[in-house]
Amino acid sequence: MAVKKVLKYGEPTLREPSKEVHKVSRKITDLVQDLFDTMYTCNGVGLAAPQIGVNLRVFVIDASTKNNPMKPMVFINPKIIKKSGAIIEDEGCLSFPEAYTPVRRYKNVTVKAMDVNGRTFLLEAKDGCLLARAIQHENDHLDGVLFIDHCTNRFEADEILKKHKLPPIDEDKLLSEPDLEAELNND
Ligand code: ZN
Repeated sequence: MAVKKVLKYGEPTLREPSKEVHKVSRKITDLVQDLFDTMYTCNGVGLAAPQIGVNLRVFVIDASTKNNPMKPMVFINPKIIKKSGAIIEDEGCLSFPEAYTPVRRYKNVTVKAMDVNGRTFLLEAKDGCLLARAIQHENDHLDGVLFIDHCTNRFEADEILKKHKLPPIDEDKLLSEPDLEAELNND
């Protein structure tokens, strides 16, 4: 297939909610291949369809590390059906080249989705592992939510965006996340 251009923060498409996939047609399998080709070329852990300008509910993840090889995964019409715990970790995004900032995430998530063959699967990712965080990050893209909306310090995040010549934080998009805050304060 093809390596696509990854849209950068500031492109309106990244803020648009994506539509459900009704049938895993050739168009969707081609999209999945484009996502993988683009993600691997950019050395990303995950990539969501809106990042290559397609507002459909599809993302791919390859959370392999040197010590923990994993299969590349496709998520079509994903839904996070369970979430618990909280963790703060540095995150980045291919739509924000070089910019990293700490964000709040759930530690454990269970996601239900369809694979590239149209089969439904359930997947549990635990302990704030890379996969657990990537699922939340990519799933957000399908709702027009970006990782900086979860930042723990908006002033620090703004500085980082400025340094990398990206537009400032969207103040009206910042998330308050009282449940995650409470969980973090308990620890
Ligand atoms: Zn991203």
